[in-house]
Amino acid sequence: MIVARTIAETRGALRSLPRPLGFTPTMGALHEGHLSLVDAAKTRCASVAGSVFVNSTQFGQGEDFDEYPRDEARDFPLFEGRGVDLVFAPSPAEMYAGGFATGVHVSGPLTETYEGASRPGYLDGMALVVTKLLDIVQPDVLFLGEKDAQQLAVVRRFVRDLDLPVEVVGVPTVREPDGLAMSSRNAYLTPEQRAVAPNLYGALLAGRAASGAPAASPKDVVVAATTALLTPALPLDEAERVAALRGEASPAAPHFDLDYIAIVDADTFQPQTTLAPRSLLIASARLGSTRLIDNIVLSASAYPAKNATTGKEGPNGHGQRQRSEEGPRA
Ligand code: AMP
Repeated sequence: MIVARTIAETRGALRSLPRPLGFTPTMGALHEGHLSLVDAAKTRCASVAGSVFVNSTQFGQGEDFDEYPRDEARDFPLFEGRGVDLVFAPSPAEMYAGGFATGVHVSGPLTETYEGASRPGYLDGMALVVTKLLDIVQPDVLFLGEKDAQQLAVVRRFVRDLDLPVEVVGVPTVREPDGLAMSSRNAYLTPEQRAVAPNLYGALLAGRAASGAPAASPKDVVVAATTALLTPALPLDEAERVAALRGEASPAAPHFDLDYIAIVDADTFQPQTTLAPRSLLIASARLGSTRLIDNIVLSASAYPAKNATTGKEGPNGHGQRQRSEEGPRA
């Protein structure tokens, strides 16, 4: 695997790699979710490039830019072991030279709601770095995780708007055995928080189950998911019961602070008033200072049971792997 630190090195080395070229951008701290992007790229492309770059422009003030885990000595062998041909791992100065003054902004609800509202600047910073990375690597196919559904929708939007010559492929969310979506930030969770973290996915499953009821409305689905998330799954002991009655948080039982649970169109992120094939149930909640996000497609047609074992995407391009179909196995 070629490790390229500069843009010039990367462009030079990529000239000799066979096409089509797949590309999987990451911020490192690699896990199976990232590596599944590489696997997807390997099935479609003759060569695969990855990147590892903790992008300062997509972190807001007070976010975890400084603490974000950085470990190239662990990440590079993981990429290499999955067959990545070239990793681009630039310094911040290589990407943002002195005097850097350009931005990429996708306007409208797609960037102003949900993640855009909760993390001002994140989607603009992400759009900027992905635009730069696409220009540097010039891949034929870009592989992004469906876990970051709004990010995926924003990238699809600006790739179309700017006529960038790349195909964007969404890759199903990879989960821990108990249902928690894999994320580099899961490492921040305390053991107690980690124990309840899968309830976020459990809430999405409860929402999807409610969506199957006759005449279910988006509101019914959101209520079912919210109730599932905020109702403690474990029986309360006496001290916790008293604390709950007093409206106090019990230190023994970490609880979610809900940011949003909503049903949106997967492409526009407009809230939906009726359930449709492109309906996504999206959620974000905090456990302590760690913010988790997850999403699930609602349409049963996106999960043809016969196809589940193949891991192939459903007809609307937003299918998830079979393991995503199952309830958490805590
Ligand atoms: P990050 O390193 O967090 O910027 O993520 C890099 C890429 O990996 C993005 O396209 C993410 O959507 C994708 N990704 C992160 N977690 C997962 C996961 N659990 N399953 C699939 N893709 C993921």
